Amino acid sequence: MRKTLIAGNWKMHGSLESVEALVNGIKSQLDDNWQSDVLVCPPYIYLDRTIQMAQGSKLAVGGQNLSEQEQGAFTGEVSGDMLSDLGATYVLVGHSERRSLYGESSQLVADKYAKALEKGLKPVLCVGETLEERENGSTMKVVKSQIDAVLDFYQDKEQGLEHLGQGVIAYEPVWAIGTGVTATPEQAQEVHAAIRDYLAEINQDVADKVQILYGGSMKSANAEQLLAQKDIDGGLIGGASLKADEFIAICKIA
Ligand code: PGA
Repeated sequence: MRKTLIAGNWKMHGSLESVEALVNGIKSQLDDNWQSDVLVCPPYIYLDRTIQMAQGSKLAVGGQNLSEQEQGAFTGEVSGDMLSDLGATYVLVGHSERRSLYGESSQLVADKYAKALEKGLKPVLCVGETLEERENGSTMKVVKSQIDAVLDFYQDKEQGLEHLGQGVIAYEPVWAIGTGVTATPEQAQEVHAAIRDYLAEINQDVADKVQILYGGSMKSANAEQLLAQKDIDGGLIGGASLKADEFIAICKIA
């Protein structure tokens, strides 16, 4: 059985005050007996504070991005070592906003993915199609090529999948992110199952075990139906993760 993961992506939101209030709000309602894992990804600058506050609780903390470089003259970048050093355990890679607004290619995302694993961080590989790509029928072509970049980073696809299995996949249709338009549970399940089938062609066992999260306007009102789908193993939540009660409501459903 795959464990459920509910992950909050705070993006570039918040202040020290609001972050502290949010972490306190989540912590006070977080139940140690829940089966699901709970993760939040604050902006870099609030990572240290969030990690300190999360200590001793079930709440895991991750970065929203990392550099593919080891260290050096890369102004404004944050390395995998630095994230690990603070106590972060996860990191998002290839979020669609990174891909579209900051020009991150699938190749660069694969480099970041590998760097995260090398540094002991669990990468959450975000994949997903734009509305145009969905409408012209290329959803799976796009998603597969985003996954292939990571698989092909390693010696062969078998080894690539071993590494993919050490991370998490998040299917986030771009047209559903921050738009209030959610993929229907059927639409999401269809892509999740297709991703798993694709990976099963390489290795059934790893494909069965890898967590595939759904992201894109998930909230407490639609989480139940989405999370009930066979191949949806959790959520990557943006807007709805900024309010403790709403985020916890989704965690409770999971
Ligand atoms: P959203 O964002 O929940 O606000 O749509 C999801 C994401 O970008 O990870």
